[in-house]
Amino acid sequence: MPTRTLSEHEQDLSHLCRQIREAKGLVCLKRNPSASHQTRQVNYKNGRTLLDLSAMRHVIGWEGDLLLCEPLVTMEELVAEALKRGRIPAIVPEFKEITVGGALQGVGLESSSHRKGQFNDICPFYEVILGNGERHLVSRDCEQELYHALPGSYGSLAITTLIAVETVPSFSHVELQGIHFHDRSACCDYLTTPQNIEFLEGFALGNERYLALQGNQCLAPQKATHIGRPMQKWFIQELLAGKTNSCVPLVDYLFRLDRGAFWMGRYLLHLRLLIAYLTCGNVADAKIQELLKSMEHSWPSRWFCALFGWLMTSKKLYQGFHQLDKKQAHRFFLIQDSFVNGKHAAEFVRHAEEEQKISPLWLCPVQKSKSPQLFSPQNIEGGPLLLNVGTYGLAHSAESLHHLEQTLALLKGRKALYSHSCYTREEFWKIYDETAYRKLRATYCAAGKFLSIEEKVF
Ligand SMILES: Cc1cc2nc3c(=O)[nH]c(=O)nc-3n(C[C@H](O)[C@H](O)[C@H](O)COP(=O)(O)OP(=O)(O)OC[C@H]3O[C@@H](n4cnc5c(N)ncnc54)[C@H](O)[C@@H]3O)c2cc1C
Repeated sequence: MPTRTLSEHEQDLSHLCRQIREAKGLVCLKRNPSASHQTRQVNYKNGRTLLDLSAMRHVIGWEGDLLLCEPLVTMEELVAEALKRGRIPAIVPEFKEITVGGALQGVGLESSSHRKGQFNDICPFYEVILGNGERHLVSRDCEQELYHALPGSYGSLAITTLIAVETVPSFSHVELQGIHFHDRSACCDYLTTPQNIEFLEGFALGNERYLALQGNQCLAPQKATHIGRPMQKWFIQELLAGKTNSCVPLVDYLFRLDRGAFWMGRYLLHLRLLIAYLTCGNVADAKIQELLKSMEHSWPSRWFCALFGWLMTSKKLYQGFHQLDKKQAHRFFLIQDSFVNGKHAAEFVRHAEEEQKISPLWLCPVQKSKSPQLFSPQNIEGGPLLLNVGTYGLAHSAESLHHLEQTLALLKGRKALYSHSCYTREEFWKIYDETAYRKLRATYCAAGKFLSIEEKVF
């Protein structure tokens, strides 16, 4: 992992500040589109001044138990650096290539979120550049309003250049234990009841099978098995096969859902589909539509994994996804993370299973935000625990997304905005506080310099 000193960081920082100050029009981040985990179109970047953060990919050092790093450090690099001190970040989003800046300005959650909240909740302060080119340090005590508004604002308020990440002691292995349910509500209730467990997540596996998967430190690591190796089946395939109790190395556990990108890989890297796509050239083609539907219950075979497993990292799968025409891709895939309070969790899971017909589903309990985070999806009524329902599958009709957004609105939930949205302007600002947002954009000189959230989301 490349490291550098604070003064080296400062040199790049002054250059970026000057670039922003001198830019005439709107400024956007220059980011290789195939490296991003956002699934939205990014043609809003066309014709804008592009700010190159590519030098900002270093760990700067430790301040007590906080790891100070630049925004393009990836989760895999962050974990490797923290492990050198026998620690890990308190939240590690599941894909190895998610960056610290993306997890902060977008959304970052995982199976520690029932104790710790979202990734931004473990970042007590960060350095930002405002639209006038000024550099500020924001924290829970300083420039609080901006500090709380940045998570989920997708770069529309300020550019983050240095982030402090809370770490916790690491251990070598995780003991996984599955608790099986046939009742949706019972599983949702279990997941949204506070527990003294290290890691907790759930899966709706189809056919009235629900799984709460908990992980704690393994005290007998000699019986450990690896997961996530290129030739192995994906983690979700093991769970579907009922293999829910095992002891796995910690780093394998943290990135257990990377290979196959949860399970979206089955659509993006299926040999027949790939050939059909290359010969037809678009996902809207009837032949591809038919193939997609027929694959809904099929999983890569051991042979396929053995031959093509190396291609199934989330990084490579996203590179594939970003080659698709986004408008068409959004007609076929429903990739959303929706947060609902515990009281409405079972109803939303029912909606996802029965009306959206998506299976499996990821069910991740998340602590409700304790601060007024303007855009964060964890800032909704209820708690202390909310449920994030990850719907990663095929859209069954052109209305699927609209239907999901309407259902979520009725249940007073919020979704993560990294993905496609079909809200109208009015619907969107019924969910978020427009007055507070405009005021912040004016106060911190973002208006006229950074695109607004609507320009990015719609
Ligand atoms: C199928 C799927 C599953 C997912 N599962 C999970 C999951 O399990 N856990 C999880 O945490 N997340 C998950 N995500 C969401 C993902 O974490 C977010 O999309 C995250 O924002 C991606 O980070 P990135 O590094 O790719 O950021 P990018 O896509 O590069 O950036 C995200 C946004 O943040 C802004 N931004 C990035 N860096 C900066 C900066 N330095 N300053 C200002 N603005 C900045 C960008 O402009 C952009 O709007 C999932 C997404 C998908 C599609």
